Amino acid sequence: MAAQEATSAGGDTVVTVQALVGGHFWLPDREVFQDSVHLPAETGSQVPTFSFLITHPVHGKLLFDLGLRKHGKGYPPAWDETLAEFKPECEEDVADVLQKGGVELDTINFLVYSHLHFDHVGDPTLFPSAEIILGKDAESLFEKPYPHDPESLFQEWPEGRTITYLQYTVPQASVKEESLPEQEESTETNGPIDTGSSPKPGGKAAVPPDDKKEVPENGTKATHLARPPPQQISPLGPFPHALDLFADGSIYVIDTPGHFPGHLCLLARVSTSPATYILLAGDCCHNRLCYTPGERLISQENYEDIEVARDTVAKLVNCAREGELKVGKEEGGIGKVVVILAHEKEREEEMPLFPKELNSWAVEEAWKEAKEEITPLRQKRAREEEVDEEDADRTIKRKLEATIENPSDGKGHGTKTKREEDEADGVAAGAAKKQRTQ
Ligand SMILES: [Zn+2]
Repeated sequence: MAAQEATSAGGDTVVTVQALVGGHFWLPDREVFQDSVHLPAETGSQVPTFSFLITHPVHGKLLFDLGLRKHGKGYPPAWDETLAEFKPECEEDVADVLQKGGVELDTINFLVYSHLHFDHVGDPTLFPSAEIILGKDAESLFEKPYPHDPESLFQEWPEGRTITYLQYTVPQASVKEESLPEQEESTETNGPIDTGSSPKPGGKAAVPPDDKKEVPENGTKATHLARPPPQQISPLGPFPHALDLFADGSIYVIDTPGHFPGHLCLLARVSTSPATYILLAGDCCHNRLCYTPGERLISQENYEDIEVARDTVAKLVNCAREGELKVGKEEGGIGKVVVILAHEKEREEEMPLFPKELNSWAVEEAWKEAKEEITPLRQKRAREEEVDEEDADRTIKRKLEATIENPSDGKGHGTKTKREEDEADGVAAGAAKKQRTQ
C-alpha cells in the first residue's frame, strides 16, 4: 500500500513515544524457544527490559511498564528463586532515567502494565500520581497479595491509589480506589477518573517531599484532565478485543492473553501522515524470531496457557507479515506498524532511546520499502546458508576466481556469479547474526 493511501482513524491525535531501558537480565533460551526447552539455563542471552514513556497532548504522560526494581531488590520473597536464575541487573531504574532526562515523577498520570512479572512491575510507589491500569484478569492476583500472603508474588498496591482493571466488553472498566483498611472501596464503571493531585495519607510514595516542586519544569503536575471512558474496539486487526484508551484513536489497549493473567499490549499512533503505529507487544513472545513468519515457536516453559499464547503470537505474526493494521471503524483506517517486544534485544541498538523520541524512527522503519517480505526471507536464507568456514572460504574463492577470470567485468556476469555474491553475503549475515546472538 502506498503511503498516501493510508488514512488515520479516530481523529488526528498522535502521541510521542520514548523508549527507556529498565535494566537487563539473563533470559535462558529454554524460556524463549520451544526448540530449546532441553537446554540448561546457562544457554541464553542478556536482554533488556523496556519501558515506554508516551506523551499525549491532552492527557499528559503515560508509562507502559516499569522494568526492574533498582538493583533487582525489593520484591516479595516469592520471587527469590526466579531472581537467582534470571540475575537482574539494574543500576538505574526507570525513575532514575526519567529524572536524569528532566521528567518529574509526579507528572506521570498513567501507569499501564503489560503484566506483573518482576521485570515489568518496577516500583509503582515512585509514581505517586499515576492511575494504575491493568488487564481485567490481573485483578484475581490481588485477592490476597503480599504481605498478607507471605508467599504471594504480588505486592499489595500502595494505599490511596486508583487502580483500574480494564474490561474489553461493556462495562469497559472497573475502577478501585485502594483504600485504608477501615475505608470502603469505591467502584466505578466507565466513568472519567481523577486520581487527585497528590498521594493520599498512608501512601508509600518514595519521592521525598523536598524533591517535589510546586511547578515542575517540564509538564503539568497531575492535576490532569480526567480521561474519558475507553471505547470498545472489536476487533482491532487480528485481535478480537481492544480498547481505545482515550477515545481519540491515539492509544489502543489490546487484549493479548496467554503469557500471564491480564497480559496486554499498547498500540500508539505516532504519525497520521503517513499513518504509523508502534505496537508495544510486551511479552507476547520474547524474541523477534518468534513473531517473524515461519520462524521459531515460543517455549511451553514460559506461558500461563501455551495454546492461548501461541494463538496470540499467531496474530502478532500476522501483523508482522502484513506490516500494517486495520485500525478504526471507517474504511481505509489502515496504518503501518512497527512491533517492539519488551525484551527484543536487537532494538536496544536499533532504536533511539530516551530522551530521544521514537516517532520519526518508527515512521522510517515502518515504511521501508518491502521490508516485511525481505527481512524474514533474508534471515531464513542466512541461517540456511550458515556454513562452516571451509565452505565460506570455498565460496569466497569461487567469487575471487570468477573476478580474476573476468577482470574487466568485476561487478558480475550473469545470474550465476550474482548468486555467488548473494551466497557470500548470506555467510556474512549469518556470522554477524551469530555474534549478536551469542
Ligand atoms: Zn518480561
